[in-house]
Amino acid sequence: MLPPDNHVHTEWSYDTSAEASMARSCEQALAIGLPGVAFTEHLEFTAGGEGDAIAGVATDARWWTRIKPLDVTGYLASVADCRERFPGLRILSGVETGESHLFAASAGAVVHGHHFDRVLGSLHAVPYKGRLVAADALFGNMPDDDVMSYYFAELLQLIERSDLFEVLAHLDFPRRYWPKGAHLYREEDFEEEYRTVLSALAGTGRVLEVNTKSPLASVDLIRWWRDVGGTAVSFGSDAHLPQRVGDRFKLAVDVVEAAGFRAGRYPYDFWRV
Ligand SMILES: [Zn+2]
Ligand SMILES: [Zn+2]
Repeated sequence: MLPPDNHVHTEWSYDTSAEASMARSCEQALAIGLPGVAFTEHLEFTAGGEGDAIAGVATDARWWTRIKPLDVTGYLASVADCRERFPGLRILSGVETGESHLFAASAGAVVHGHHFDRVLGSLHAVPYKGRLVAADALFGNMPDDDVMSYYFAELLQLIERSDLFEVLAHLDFPRRYWPKGAHLYREEDFEEEYRTVLSALAGTGRVLEVNTKSPLASVDLIRWWRDVGGTAVSFGSDAHLPQRVGDRFKLAVDVVEAAGFRAGRYPYDFWRV
């Protein structure tokens, strides 16, 4: 039995195309035998509000203009509709919060104002020279290795300063954009940084995501998670199209099993040591 896909985007996320569809994502999940799916739409903001640490930081308009607010009411109605249409699938509601340490008040108002089954924490952008910029935009501004170190340092801030999320998504997000080619990125070059952020995450009892849109984590990386006290793993395709739901999950299961994690009592549980 495959694990549930705990990271899926649909037409309710600002960065999906016309082909994105919650209903078709449910059909795909059932077709490939997933026990459940969590729709974790982007929760991002175009400006800091009262109480947000970001308030004084300018944003990079090149990508910021694409962000649209999440229509929570419409989204939750769509989830309710899919639960009726697909009773054989366990459907979780959720959001993927971006930079929730910088938008604590704005993101907190949405997360605490509704019931979401899954809240993911992500770092897509980092403060740099007084602006908030897309993490991959740092490549070219400093040596490639320094970009990762810079990213992990801010990720530590996210983990230490925000308790809004339960699952840390794609912990090494910029590896997707590694300038020499994503396949040439070497986790072992950043073992110390990985262990530092994983240790902080484990210390708060939270869950590490294995993201199958990013280059797949190695068995060693998941073992580092276990070494530092991590006890739970979540699987996420980060699909932005229905046909990508559950993508590469068989491979991901092999990696996570090799690191010593097992399925829980129920098929939709996190995998644990
Ligand atoms: Zn993300
Ligand atoms: Zn995502």
